[in-house]
Amino acid sequence: MDSRHQFLANLESRRVKDSSTAECVAAIGICRFARIRAAIGFELAEQLIDTLTDRVQLAFPTALTVRLAPDTIGVWLQHETAADTIPAMLAALRSEFEAYVELRGHRIFASIRAGYATTTRGAAASADILNRAELALCQARENGRSVQAFSEAEYGNPADRLALLDEMRQGLDAGEVSLVYQPQVCTRTGKVASVESLMRWTSQTRGIVPPSLFIAAAEETDQIRHLTEFAIQQALEDSRSLERDGFPIRIGVNISSRLLTDRDFVEHALRLLNGASERVTFEITETAVVDDWKIALENLELFSAAGVRLALDDYGSGLSSLAYVQQLPIHELKIDRCFITQLTTTHRNPLLVRSTIELGHALDLEVVGEGVEDAETLALLTVMGCDLAQGYFLGRPMPLPKLVDYLRAGTAQELMARPFAVSFINGR
Ligand code: C2E
Ligand code: MG
Ligand code: MG
Repeated sequence: MDSRHQFLANLESRRVKDSSTAECVAAIGICRFARIRAAIGFELAEQLIDTLTDRVQLAFPTALTVRLAPDTIGVWLQHETAADTIPAMLAALRSEFEAYVELRGHRIFASIRAGYATTTRGAAASADILNRAELALCQARENGRSVQAFSEAEYGNPADRLALLDEMRQGLDAGEVSLVYQPQVCTRTGKVASVESLMRWTSQTRGIVPPSLFIAAAEETDQIRHLTEFAIQQALEDSRSLERDGFPIRIGVNISSRLLTDRDFVEHALRLLNGASERVTFEITETAVVDDWKIALENLELFSAAGVRLALDDYGSGLSSLAYVQQLPIHELKIDRCFITQLTTTHRNPLLVRSTIELGHALDLEVVGEGVEDAETLALLTVMGCDLAQGYFLGRPMPLPKLVDYLRAGTAQELMARPFAVSFINGR
């Protein structure tokens, strides 16, 4: 199998710039490869990859193959007639990958996800096509599809995306990235128990870039690691400063899913925390844990053993089951804001939220409601026994000096002391 460099060189020379020919580059991800490798060992897992690649080569003698990542193989396929031949080529490719492989007495069935990009005559450089195929594989994973074509509409132009990443890297160095803090208030006492840090990027050229855009782009590359390490360091520094001002509260830091399976990140994060773990809560989402359960769980145990508090963020928005939550070494459950913002306007949500709070308590977890936008919602959550509340009603994310003013003024306690619409609750 070629290296990436060789593959691109061969691709460049093989590609026929002829529109009557159909060509596609597919990035094939072997599902749960880490788990297969853990079960059969590194050597056999490598043999599995070789066997699958040989098979493709046998079925498609003109194909080019490349190892893109430990669990990902790239394949360039060509067909002499264009039009509708690509879906058929992909179906044939898939059946080669998914037929079982017998290795030293093990029968292995690999299931795959595929992302692919097609080209028209002379349309794009080979490196761009390969990039698009890899991005399509990411999209397939995110969308839970087995096969996905690269879609520019969904993703945007890869060149723009690269420019964004480049500017973000420079912006981080130039101090354009910062943290703001949103209070999490104890419903019983009205005290600010902790704050969540949220990242902001104010680019000199682009203005304010929303986290939904820049975090998602960073997550596709190693950039997310730099941003997260920055967030941990900044949160620690700000937590010391808050303590000096008389507010010894924990700061929540969001940790992207993909970092939970990255042992280098985990080790570095532990070094950064170095004895100050009690200052932070790491907010994690379920995706990473589902994708690579064993490794993610090991890493979470490492954080937990070091004294980091762990919160499961956006609970309810994914597929987490009780059995799954039970096995995670978490301390806190954050109910996704989509359930909370509509708490008082839909009939089903109060039932769901109440049972989630009960579930959390049965598992000895503290429960946080996010997205509290009004007094009624806060009152309802309080009555339901939700431990902490977070949302625009109690305070928008704010820079550190504003947070200190907020804490000094006792704003949260003042808001909590306002008479609530209890009759509304009783009326439900
Ligand atoms: P999240 O971790 O679930 O953060 C909560 C989001 O809800 C924040 O959006 C916050 O501003 C917003 N929010 C809080 N209260 C309310 C409310 O009452 N109503 C409504 N409608 N929204 C509310 P934000 O700051 O835009 O961040 C969005 C997401 O971006 C975060 O969701 C998190 O997944 C990600 N993110 C933000 N900062 C970081 C970071 O430092 N690292 C990583 N990995 N992800 C981050
Ligand atoms: Mg969060
Ligand atoms: Mg959340």
